[in-house]
Amino acid sequence: MAASGVRVVQAAPAPSLLLLAFFLLPSFARGWGTDGHLIVCKIAQTRLTEAAREVVEALLPEYAAGDLSSLCSWPDHVKFRYPWSSPLHYIDTPDHLCNYDYNRDCRDVRTGEKGVCVAGAIRNYTDQLLHHKGPPFGQGQYNLTQALLFLSHFMGDIHQPLHVGFTSDKGGNTIDVDWFEKRQVLHQVWDSSIIESAKQRFYNDSVDGLIQDVNNNITGIWADQVPRWTTCGVGGPACPDVDATESINEACNWAYRNVTNGTTLGDEYFHASLPVVYQRLAQGGVRLASVLNRILWDGDED
Ligand SMILES: [Zn+2]
Repeated sequence: MAASGVRVVQAAPAPSLLLLAFFLLPSFARGWGTDGHLIVCKIAQTRLTEAAREVVEALLPEYAAGDLSSLCSWPDHVKFRYPWSSPLHYIDTPDHLCNYDYNRDCRDVRTGEKGVCVAGAIRNYTDQLLHHKGPPFGQGQYNLTQALLFLSHFMGDIHQPLHVGFTSDKGGNTIDVDWFEKRQVLHQVWDSSIIESAKQRFYNDSVDGLIQDVNNNITGIWADQVPRWTTCGVGGPACPDVDATESINEACNWAYRNVTNGTTLGDEYFHASLPVVYQRLAQGGVRLASVLNRILWDGDED
């Protein structure tokens, strides 16, 4: 499929005073770090069918050179340019209930508009991508390149347990902890620090070995579970409510467990959390591939 006519994702705008002012405001990080998204998308890419891979490559801008993972953090870089997209990276659930309900939790807190959360966004961008066989690229009502990047990113985010966290602490963003010697917020520990520490300790600071180990688990110790990860009954090509429910459960069982403001998190917490992080990255990657394989194909059948 020819890549010509794909609407190319613009580079981030040049810093301006307004932009600098934005960075000076207190803001809450929401999202796996760059490595987390890269890992999810790398795992997904190796599991794409030939047909889905062709459509993905055609939708990617040329400078991505066919590598979806190189742009999987793009939605984190455009939150300022697209302020409407900020609440689409997470879900706030009621404090300490440890459950998730789409009708209750997936809405704009100010306007009450339904579907304004990461689960609603996954549904929306999945629906948009179903139009890929419609008008020639770039001429339809949707920007399918952006839809692909948002979907790929949000499939990662919804698997980060603290992206489906408690409302009052903003998914662990207002809980200060010491990650070994370093003061940071709990959300950041789960976005980046657990992965960072694993890279440093076990993989010579490279993400490739980590991806290899997660992939080995997918085809090894988790092989029996993998088919279940991608079955969700009649929910459609994506099952974000299942993913979100798992995340709030993991958040309660692992991320929030025995953690309050000022807690020091060390080896014990790291070793308990790491298998959870590996499995969530694996599930994100496997499920992203499964969704793309279901919706992106270039056959004549309809
Ligand atoms: Zn995000």
